[in-house]
Formats: sequence, structure tokens, C-alpha cells
Amino acid sequence: MRLKFLGTGAAGGVPVYGCTCLVCRAAQRDNSLGRKPCSVLIETAEESILVDGGLPDLGRRFPAGSLTRIFLTHYHMDHVQGLFQLRWGCNTLMPVHGPADQHGCADLFNHPGILDFSPVMQAFETKAFGSLDVTPVPLNHSKMTLGYCFQDDTIRIAYLCDTAGLPPETRRFLKKWQPDHIVLDCTHPPQESQPANHNDFTLALRLAADFTSARICLTHISHSFDVWLHHHQDVLPPHMQIATDGMELLPEGVFVAAAGQTVNVIPTAK
Ligand SMILES: [Zn+2]
Ligand SMILES: [Zn+2]
Ligand SMILES: [Zn+2]
Repeated sequence: MRLKFLGTGAAGGVPVYGCTCLVCRAAQRDNSLGRKPCSVLIETAEESILVDGGLPDLGRRFPAGSLTRIFLTHYHMDHVQGLFQLRWGCNTLMPVHGPADQHGCADLFNHPGILDFSPVMQAFETKAFGSLDVTPVPLNHSKMTLGYCFQDDTIRIAYLCDTAGLPPETRRFLKKWQPDHIVLDCTHPPQESQPANHNDFTLALRLAADFTSARICLTHISHSFDVWLHHHQDVLPPHMQIATDGMELLPEGVFVAAAGQTVNVIPTAK
């Protein structure tokens, strides 16, 4: 299994419209420092799975036939907005596996077009897609949200976004399941009071300390967390890193940054 980070940004992305912070200014000058809507591509010999559909240009990125299915973590706009155009495609049908959220987002369920929302995922029920086993796990968020645990012969990756901490039953499952890698929501720098819908760095550190045998990769990152990281360069424990757009996790468990970037790059003011 290969995992590619297509986007690693919080809802506002980086650069944030109108913002003049050092991170947003750097990302305005250099596209490669930007953060697009949070999503990953999982590829195996048989499957090419998009996790979350927030990117606006899904049709151009993935010509018909190139994706086998889409998994949705939840129905917030920054995770589904790309589906609003994709649905008006033709000559194809796209299975979309998501949580059993009866409302979805706007009119997606009423006018699904080529999107087939029927394969609903139930928490802790493992489904096989070729050689890939997928187990959904509930997360703590303002809308019904699932994380996904992906497992093939060689590697176990838990994708946990969007969430603030973990529900006890999800923590228990993960303890037993023993992920090699956890891709984790860390939207905020350390906050005064515990955030309700997304991890801040304090919560992410706490979770990382609970899973010391896994590599933790932080995503769904806001410009304010990027700015904080810029001023606190040595805070990451050795088994933690920051995801960047275009970064890939190869089958052997090695991270490779997109061309022109290094792994764990922290934007610097130029
Ligand atoms: Zn989000
Ligand atoms: Zn900014
Ligand atoms: Zn959300």
C-alpha cells in the first residue's frame, strides 16, 4: 500500500485568504508551501482510493476509471466540496463509502449524479477491497465522523481526521490493532482550554505518547499551527512528523516529500 497526501490543510487552507502571517506570505510566493483541503490517495495493486473529496479539481486529477472508490470521513464542506462538480459526470458510477449520516452535505444525497452513496460504513466492521482490509472507527467531531484503519500484508495505517482526542472504544481498538502509522488531525497550536472538534498540539502529543510504537504524522494543519511550529522547531518527538502536500508514504514505511521539498519542512520567512 502507498499513501499520498493530496492536501494537508485545515478548512481555510494555507495561504488563508487575506492573511499576512509569515506562513501565508511564504505560501503565496511558493505554491509548494501551501496546504490544500485535507485528503489522501491510497493505492494497492487492485485499488486506488481517494479519502475525502475536498479538492476542487477532482475530475482533472482523476480521469474516469482511475479511482476505484471514495471514502468519506464526514460530510463537512472542506471534505466533500469537490464532489459537487464530480457528481455531474457521465458514463461511470463512483462508489462513495461514508458514515451513516442521514443529512450528508447540502443536496448531495438528493442529487447524487454518478456518486453511489449506498455503501455506508459501520464502525468496527472490517471490509476487504482486494488485498486491503478497511475498518472504520468513530472519532470525536461536531458531525458524525469515521477514521479508517487500512491494512495489507505489510503495513497498518490509521487515518484519524477530523477529531479531538479519541473515543474510548476507538482507543481500545487501536491499542489492539497496533498501527505502524497514525495520520492524525492536529489543526491547532497548543490552546488554553481543550478544543472540542480538532486536536491541538497538546492533544496530539498526548495521543502520540499513548502509541509510541507507531509513527505519527500530523495533518489538517492551520496556518496558526504552521506559524507556531516555525517558532518551536524542536518540539516534535522522534516518532512524529508534519505532513506536507504531495508527501508519500511508500510500502516499506518510508516518507518521501514532494519534489523540491524535504520531509518535515517548516515554512521560513523569506
Ligand atoms: Zn476538516
Ligand atoms: Zn496566515
Ligand atoms: Zn470537519
